Amino acid sequence: VMSPAVQLAETSDIAEWWPVPGATSDKYTRGVVGLATGSAGYPGAALLGCTGALAGPSGMVRYAGSAHAEVVRAHPSVVAAPRVADSGRVQAWVCGSGLGTGADARTELRSVLATSLPVLLDADAITLLVGGKHAEDLRRDAPVVLTPHDGEFKRLAGESPGADRAGAAARLAAWTNAVVLLKGDRTIVATPAGEIWVNPTGSAALATAGSGDVLAGLLGSLLAAGLPAVKAAVAAAFVHGLAGRHAALDGPVTAPDVAAAIRPVLGRILQ
Ligand code: AMP
Ligand code: MG
Repeated sequence: VMSPAVQLAETSDIAEWWPVPGATSDKYTRGVVGLATGSAGYPGAALLGCTGALAGPSGMVRYAGSAHAEVVRAHPSVVAAPRVADSGRVQAWVCGSGLGTGADARTELRSVLATSLPVLLDADAITLLVGGKHAEDLRRDAPVVLTPHDGEFKRLAGESPGADRAGAAARLAAWTNAVVLLKGDRTIVATPAGEIWVNPTGSAALATAGSGDVLAGLLGSLLAAGLPAVKAAVAAAFVHGLAGRHAALDGPVTAPDVAAAIRPVLGRILQ
């Protein structure tokens, strides 16, 4: 069996794909990204996802969840509501980090999956999918992006990625019919059709709490801006990796540092 060609993302790909506002753009045509993340116990996941989303190309960030008051206090430009059902229109949803796995979390996940919009599922949303019945939920027309780290991958796939990480991501993508972004030193992006990308950027500095939440927000912003799921995933991983490297130039890195470094990194790529 021939292994499928693995593509390496390059700066020129990201520069070509990254959505930039046109002369007649407004905040809605640039895309509205919604985040259904965080909980009373984990407001930080909500805040970090919003910082990632705000650094992306969409024109508006909406937040839906129990951290809505904290989110608006920290980010006045985010439009927040307690639940997905109370939110205004969005073009893509990010669901999962810090959401919890109780009944309320499941309701929010169901609301997001019931839309006809691109959806990114991370962290607790991935955990909620486990169990054959809920795997059915991913059979929808609009794209799904899954962003597991190794532990979440194992929960969903039933086994660790192993040595052949690209093959493992591709099998999970085929099985779930989702674009799979398998996090790690060299993050893999695999599609249900068998397309596989490897991210050459990145830094061990990203191995810090909340860094994945920043990635999810950024990727969601790209989906909302209309980028196809595979390009959104590849571009987000690439820029997030460079942001980790950039932040590490100043010393030890925390997740907010990664988010803050996205803008200067993009400035250099898009110049
Ligand atoms: P999470 O585990 O959800 O917080 O996500 C961690 C993020 O950091 C992902 O984007 C990973 O790809 C990245 N990351 C973690 N460890 C490393 C590493 N050793 N080298 C490069 N990137 C890493
Ligand atoms: Mg995570």
